[in-house]
Amino acid sequence: MSQPHHRDPRFIRWGRLVRDAANADPNTRCWRCGRRLTDHPPHKTGAAPTWHAGHTIDGQLGRPWLKVTEPPPEGPWLAAEASTCNVTAGARAGARGRGTGYSWP
Ligand SMILES: [Zn+2]
Repeated sequence: MSQPHHRDPRFIRWGRLVRDAANADPNTRCWRCGRRLTDHPPHKTGAAPTWHAGHTIDGQLGRPWLKVTEPPPEGPWLAAEASTCNVTAGARAGARGRGTGYSWP
């Protein structure tokens, strides 16, 4: 993660809000894949996934989306995203450029 706005105080504050909201509700859905945290596979290391604040549009600092059980609308948001999905997206970001949207079950 080397995006310049990750040092932005708004990102730090909003990211914390999103993570707190996500952790407070067991029905939180990952904006990227629509699954609950417990439905995500563990990391390759065996570590359990955790909630991150993910960008719905790569590289754009969106506002925090705190209705964590609902998908965010179109546009840039900081939304709850499982660490496993976040890691995968970061690895793909160079090739893809931006998100392809999500499939909400
Ligand atoms: Zn996910």
